[in-house]
This record gives sequence, structure tokens and C-alpha cells, in this order.
Amino acid sequence: MSAARENLKNAKRIVVKVGTSTLAHSGSYKLNLYRIEHLIRELADLHNAGKEIIFVSSGAIAAGIGRMRLNGKPETIPENQALAAIGQGILMHIYEKFFAEYGQIPAQVLLTGDIANDEHARENAGNSLTTILKMGAIPVINENDAVAVDEIKIGDNDNLSALVAKITNAEVLIILTDIDGLYNKNPKSDDSAKLIDEVPEIDSTIEKIAGGAGTKLGTGGMFTKIQAAKVATAAGISMLIVSGREPGNLRRVLNGENIGTIFPAAL
Ligand code: GLU
Repeated sequence: MSAARENLKNAKRIVVKVGTSTLAHSGSYKLNLYRIEHLIRELADLHNAGKEIIFVSSGAIAAGIGRMRLNGKPETIPENQALAAIGQGILMHIYEKFFAEYGQIPAQVLLTGDIANDEHARENAGNSLTTILKMGAIPVINENDAVAVDEIKIGDNDNLSALVAKITNAEVLIILTDIDGLYNKNPKSDDSAKLIDEVPEIDSTIEKIAGGAGTKLGTGGMFTKIQAAKVATAAGISMLIVSGREPGNLRRVLNGENIGTIFPAAL
């Protein structure tokens, strides 16, 4: 086991980010309750084991689409913002229900990009999040999509989760997604693609694999995850990309098991 993976066993403050494709059924955009329930139970159990959990959840727009029985994302920004407002409540309702079943207290925090650009806002958000943790509750974070216009928008929750990990001085960021980790080639189109266990340095080869600057749709949607890895590792936080499809992966990875891809914190 590598030293970076061994260190995961001792991590106390952990940010877990989960993407829309893990939370919702493809096609209908309805929430995947089986996965959500298992994930929340796992987070609750980690909390019981003495970890401080910060949960970054996407899925608001998808939940809104599912509730309104639409076929997909509308074209206009205001419509997507309205759907995020509808869906965010649905998400929190479900999280509150499942967390409460396991005796945990979720606390919704909706952030905007000012935590990236404004020191004062960053400090305030950090204080609020660490106070929630001190109270023994679990912050459940999303971007405040309904009001996030271009100037204050982060735009994706991979980057948002890296910023959150940074302002809360977390030790680990785990990104749960619909693929097993970072592959050396696109596994959807190339059978010889191999999973990369550890990325000691984000060099030009890694950037190329992830789609390179400017292309938003990289290998398995990896572009924003590599951006997040750069922010996290430079701040001394190890980041992992792990499949969120199989229940139990969070616990396994925090026990040091060799699953997913780890980007060890820069020293
Ligand atoms: N904030 C968006 C939502 O909750 C998700 C952004 C992302 O997928 O990264 O729907």
C-alpha cells in the first residue's frame, strides 16, 4: 500500500462529492434512491466512527427535471436555475429523511463563486462550515445555482468541492463518480484502457488524458476533476476519484484499499 493510501486511514476531516450521474437514473432523471440511501448510511457510519464529513452534492437540476417530468435539460439559464431551486428542496428532503434515520443532522449550505475570489466571503463560509462540524452536524453543500450568474459562478461541483476542502482545511477530498477512476485512455472507446492507481504529479500527460485545456468533455468527464485535483493537492489535500456505483467504496478507500485513483497531497 502506498504511503498516501496508508495515510487515508487517519484522515479526520473528509469532503465527499457526489455527481448527478451517481445520484439520478439515466433517462428519467429520477433519483436513484437505492444508491442515495446506501451513500447516506455510509456517511452516517463514518460520522459515527469519529470522522468529520462534509458532503458536496450535485443533482439539484436533475431532481427538478425529474419532478417536472421533462425529457432533459432546458436550453435557457433561468429555466435551469428554476429547476435547481425546485430540485434542491427535493434533495434536502431526501437527505434529511435518510440522515435522520441514522441519527445525523444535515445542514444545507449553498455557495457561490465568491469563495474563490473574495477573501472575506471565503473566511465567512469557512467559519460557518467549521461551526456546523463542531455542532456535530453534516454540511450538505451545493452551488447556489438559482442566483449564480457568470461573474460569481463556479459552474461545476468538482471545483466547488476542492474549494470547500481548502477553506475547511480538510485532509481528503473523495469524488464519487460513474467511472472507476482515471484511465490512461478513454475506457468507453478503448478496451486496452488501464486504470491509473496513483497520480504523483499532474503533468501534461495527465492533462492530455483528461481532455486538455479548453475541452469541457474530457475522458469520462475528467477535465474538471483534474482541475479540482490541482487545487486540492496544492493545498495539501489528497484527492481521490472513486466509483459511486458500488455501495461500500467510501469505507473501503478510507481503509486504504487500492480502489480508484489517488492524487496525493503535495508536500
Ligand atoms: N449544481 C448543479 C446541480 O446541483 C451540479 C453541478 C455539477 O454537476 O457539477 O444540479
